[in-house]
Amino acid sequence: MKITNKRLKREKKTLEAMTRLYCKDNHDSAQAMCTQCEELFHYACQRIDNCILGDKKTTCAKCPIHCFKPEYKDKIKKVMRHSGPKMIYKHPILAFYHLLDNKLKPILIKNRMPK
Ligand SMILES: [Zn+2]
Repeated sequence: MKITNKRLKREKKTLEAMTRLYCKDNHDSAQAMCTQCEELFHYACQRIDNCILGDKKTTCAKCPIHCFKPEYKDKIKKVMRHSGPKMIYKHPILAFYHLLDNKLKPILIKNRMPK
């Protein structure tokens, strides 16, 4: 099932912004993203597309399923830790929605998931 709703598009946009921020500060790459980070970003997008929670998905950090391969999971965690606090200045609107998804969705999902 291909998910193309707004919510997931926004998540990818947030992801891209965060990965770029991380890459710029840590990899000193001349382009928007180095190959390594681009690979990570594409992998994460794939996971988002294939996420079985669909539009009920929260942000990946709070996801109860954790579908990332361990090596990518470590990388994305580093990206989030680095870029997360900066998002509020660089991309306040994306950061706001990310926060909303992060705090609200887990509560909604908890109530909707079969026990
Ligand atoms: Zn990079």
